[in-house]
Amino acid sequence: MNLKFNSEGLIPAIIQDATTKNVLMLGYMNEEAFQKTQETKKVTFYSRSKQRLWTKGEESGNFLNLVDVKVDCDDDTLLVQVDPVGPTCHKGSDTCWGEDNSSNFGFISKLEQTILERRSNAKPEDSYVASLFSKGINKLAQKLGEEAVEVVIEAKDNNNELFLNESADLLFHYLMLLQAKGFTLEAIESVLKNREK
Ligand code: AMP
Ligand code: ZN
Ligand code: ZN
Ligand code: ZN
Repeated sequence: MNLKFNSEGLIPAIIQDATTKNVLMLGYMNEEAFQKTQETKKVTFYSRSKQRLWTKGEESGNFLNLVDVKVDCDDDTLLVQVDPVGPTCHKGSDTCWGEDNSSNFGFISKLEQTILERRSNAKPEDSYVASLFSKGINKLAQKLGEEAVEVVIEAKDNNNELFLNESADLLFHYLMLLQAKGFTLEAIESVLKNREK
């Protein structure tokens, strides 16, 4: 790696949670800080205010455990992927922009929001989602069972398009049932994460 440090001998390091992909903070490293980070596997910056090496978490214990480092297209910015211990910002929030470091399933999370919006605001005659919710939880659960059976049937065949379509139906109806029970995918993620330990 031939890193390009700026005229002050520093390179910006974007700190990203390796799992959630949220950006946690921005710091600067000099060559020594970069080396120390790699050796100790704890993210270490050059602090311009302290004018010395600063291992994030040295006082608070909220270390940033190194997972991976990536260099950008022109070697002048680092993307440091970490497993954070506790909140990253000294003001107490998970990120330095006051956000929670919560999971985000991208498009699927947007879909959960759309389901919530339709369920809350749409009339059953105008919206498939609203009509299913209006029929109650048992109907939703039954619908999920039917979609699951359809996936099983298509899995035995060789038609990938049908298999993928039924899989999408299954996931969509599952998100609705989860929501009807008062949960989101994040709750399922925590159950799975706990099993990993
Ligand atoms: P820590 O490195 O977490 O032990 O915090 C030590 C000191 O570093 C704090 O009192 C703050 O002055 C500073 N500090 C900690 N975290 C941050 C951060 N995310 N951004 C800027 N300064 C920080
Ligand atoms: Zn660049
Ligand atoms: Zn902060
Ligand atoms: Zn189906």
